[in-house]
Amino acid sequence: MALIVQKYGGTSVGTIERIQAVAGKIQTKAERGDQIVVVVSAMSGETNRLIGLADEIEEAPSPREMDVLVSTGEQVTIALLCMALHKMGCQARSYTGGQVQILTDKAHSKARIKDIDGARVKADLDTGHVVVIAGFQGVDDHGNITTLGRGGSDTTAVAMAAALKADECQIYTDVDGVYTTDPRIEPKARRLERITFEEMLEMASLGSKVLQIRAVEFAGKYNVPLRVLSSFDEGEGTLITFEEDNVEAAKISGIAFNRDEAKLTVLGVPDQPGVAHKILGPISDANIEVDMIVQNIAADEATTDFTFTVHRNDFTQAKEILQGVAESLQAQDVLNDDSVVKISLVGVGMRSHAGIASEMFGALAKEGINIRMISTSEIKISVVIDEKYLELGVRTLHEAFGLESEGAA
Ligand code: ADP
Ligand code: ASP
Ligand code: MG
Repeated sequence: MALIVQKYGGTSVGTIERIQAVAGKIQTKAERGDQIVVVVSAMSGETNRLIGLADEIEEAPSPREMDVLVSTGEQVTIALLCMALHKMGCQARSYTGGQVQILTDKAHSKARIKDIDGARVKADLDTGHVVVIAGFQGVDDHGNITTLGRGGSDTTAVAMAAALKADECQIYTDVDGVYTTDPRIEPKARRLERITFEEMLEMASLGSKVLQIRAVEFAGKYNVPLRVLSSFDEGEGTLITFEEDNVEAAKISGIAFNRDEAKLTVLGVPDQPGVAHKILGPISDANIEVDMIVQNIAADEATTDFTFTVHRNDFTQAKEILQGVAESLQAQDVLNDDSVVKISLVGVGMRSHAGIASEMFGALAKEGINIRMISTSEIKISVVIDEKYLELGVRTLHEAFGLESEGAA
């Protein structure tokens, strides 16, 4: 008998028919004798609808009330799914995050899970129930409802799997696994049978929203066997593996991209110690995360240009802060661009293959795509380019690195 945690995302429970289909899938597994814990998201579009309602009242609502609001989406789904399971003769019980005691810190809208009390869930499993848990939510020490950030139901599932020492955590979604890139952008993208945990972490942090990054981090920390599968079709999906040996020996495993980038440049700042700190200090004091940073060498040996990227949501605030900084540094000017994107190549194969960066830059150049910024690490290369070239850039690189066919590149 195995203990499995399954997670079904918004599209997978987007209608009553789909909830009934999910119930059927769960029942089949439960009848085989497995113990099943199910984590569900809100029905597709529901979380956005709730955010929209709040927007109609107030541009910046209370974070506490916002979490009370957006967590309701998942509560609807757990009840409906249990009803569908009951109708099929399957014993099932639903719980909100607070009822399970998914304890988090108090960072509303981006809370981190601190602890889970699995006792209640275990007791239900032992009496033959399927346990259905609302994803995306928890409670802080004072009983306030918190949420875990967009896509957070993935993290609930992985955290539950860790707490219960489940045999596998299965993330059911609207694609049948992790692909070489988002199949919505490149229809020739190929499903990977396996991807290393390290690569998945990079893909998620560089913009592949198929798994929430914190879910991948959690899986790594607690060694949770994780698989991404389709809710609609049968299949093996993609296994996130901790071993590198069996992974296809390609240079590149996947291409991630992020549309949420914005670029800021301070022109003509003095080339002196402490300038980077003077520019980025106020940005970080405002809790704005900086991603890529480039400082040019001083062409005239006196001044230099300093460029960095932030999330587009933080663009306006960062711009305002920078105006003040630029004045105090007597910089020449501040340039802003919020129509840039980041494309990244990811692969552990980079460790043993040289020249990937130049191959990447060559392929983009052939299409006339100008690279604005570059950053590299051991298993990834990222470039910032103009937004209008996103699709072309992804497809060009997908082809250049032979990702559509197995074992290529
Ligand atoms: P869910 O609602 O089930 O959580 P998400 O929309 O969060 O589903 O994640 C699934 C989506 O992730 C897919 O529909 C796909 O467009 C997108 N995606 C982005 N990158 C990838 C990738 N490398 N492989 C598979 N899907 C990806
Ligand atoms: N419903 C939440 C969201 O839309 C959480 C999730 O689906 O994982 O982000
Ligand atoms: Mg998701």
